[in-house]
Amino acid sequence: MAIDLVERLTAAGLGGDLVLPRSAAFDRRRRIWNAVVDRHPAAIVRPATADGVAAVVRAAAECDALLSVRCGGHSFPGHSTCDGGVVLELSAMNSVSVDPAVGRCVVGGGALLGDVDRAAVPHGLAVPAGVVSHTGIGGLTLGGGIGWLSRLHGLTIDSLVGVDIVTADGVLRRASAEREPELFWALRGGGGNFGVVVAFEFQARALGPVSAGKWEYPLAEIADVMLGAASLAGDAPRELTISFSVTRIGVALTALWTGAPGRAEAALSPFGRLTASASGGHGPVSFIDLQSRTDHHSAWGRRYYAKGGFVRHVDAALVGRIADAVADGPTDHSEVYVPQLGGAVGDVDEEATAYSGREAGYYWLVEPIWDDPADDARCLEWGRRQGGRLAALSMDANYVNEQADTGGDFPEQAYGSSKYRRLREIKTRYDPTNLFRLNTNIEPAGAAAASASG
Ligand SMILES: Cc1cc2nc3c(=O)[nH]c(=O)nc-3n(C[C@H](O)[C@H](O)[C@H](O)COP(=O)(O)OP(=O)(O)OC[C@H]3O[C@@H](n4cnc5c(N)ncnc54)[C@H](O)[C@@H]3O)c2cc1C
Repeated sequence: MAIDLVERLTAAGLGGDLVLPRSAAFDRRRRIWNAVVDRHPAAIVRPATADGVAAVVRAAAECDALLSVRCGGHSFPGHSTCDGGVVLELSAMNSVSVDPAVGRCVVGGGALLGDVDRAAVPHGLAVPAGVVSHTGIGGLTLGGGIGWLSRLHGLTIDSLVGVDIVTADGVLRRASAEREPELFWALRGGGGNFGVVVAFEFQARALGPVSAGKWEYPLAEIADVMLGAASLAGDAPRELTISFSVTRIGVALTALWTGAPGRAEAALSPFGRLTASASGGHGPVSFIDLQSRTDHHSAWGRRYYAKGGFVRHVDAALVGRIADAVADGPTDHSEVYVPQLGGAVGDVDEEATAYSGREAGYYWLVEPIWDDPADDARCLEWGRRQGGRLAALSMDANYVNEQADTGGDFPEQAYGSSKYRRLREIKTRYDPTNLFRLNTNIEPAGAAAASASG
């Protein structure tokens, strides 16, 4: 099968490069962000055009080959690589064009969040997305997209106007509210199940000067800090958003203010006075710098696991479990990360998009981070056990993006049975053989689909 696939790809005239295992670059190019995932595809192709993408999709379908679609390569379970199949790498399609007159941004399906910010922010615009600049816009958007601007402007998908997508039949389609609306509904939260998005069109949002603060508190004060900060943030306008990063070292609280600069001091300074032991401060920041502030913490090539869930509020029970979890943390960097949601995320009707859990006030993410493969069992066990304890306090709906365990019943649980049924119908129409199965997989009805990995 691998030889047929390589022959077929070679013959396809991709207009991009084809990297095979014998190539010197192969070992570097096969790697993804999470070093726990170590797979050996038969070929890596990097087309530069939608036609090239369609050629790869057709070749993979004809050869019945595993197909991994890669944008930023940040899938925790490694959906953007595979053993023995083809990796369709979109990094050559990373252009971002901005029309400042109407605030529209057209973003290539292989762009990273930093590419989008660097193009949009100089025009006083931003596409609401995630908080680490080397994350891919592709996977992040298709799962939903949570970040600093969610409370003010909603998820990334709430700014999505339309996409150009190559579906499993190799056809390039436009999906938007007007054209193929069911597909557009599914693409806003349903992940990479429906095809390869070669371009995303966003309605960017106005972004003026911003201020941010970061304070460190001792772990022993976690209850005062988290409950106090959540109470302040709950009463604050949507221009204020907070997040917590809790490790065995302590509690780091970050707050962003995007409202009038003259009100930044009043909005941010109370977060530095939650207890007497705060260290840190606040002030004006460049949004682009803020968006890459934690890039090093989530560097390429380290080892990661993630399990997350939604909660309506930060309450004493949640805080107690987070404190217990990190007290037992396997490494200094292993964290429970808790970003605020609510606001504009909840303005959109729950049924309007495939994304589920809009009534959540916060997300939590248990994330062990380590470097030595000898620590794999210990770190994975911690992530699963502590994630399971927090899941018991959480909503039924879940976020499909920030999860390492996405197989089994997870997709149906995350979307809920009625949305899952609708997603399945759409999947069956657009991808009846489950060609796009390396994702939080929605199995098409009636297909002898290969079981989803991850
Ligand atoms: C360091 C880090 C920080 C993160 N921060 C945030 C955050 O702030 N907010 C948030 O919401 N999430 C965040 N996430 C989760 C993130 O949204 C997911 O990991 C997402 O899948 C990453 O997308 P990617 O394109 O980088 O990944 P990839 O591994 O390239 O792709 C992930 C999945 O999406 C599919 N896919 C990617 N691009 C396309 C495309 N163009 N067309 C069709 N399918 C495609 C892939 O096939 C795969 O199934 C973060 C993850 C990491 C590792």
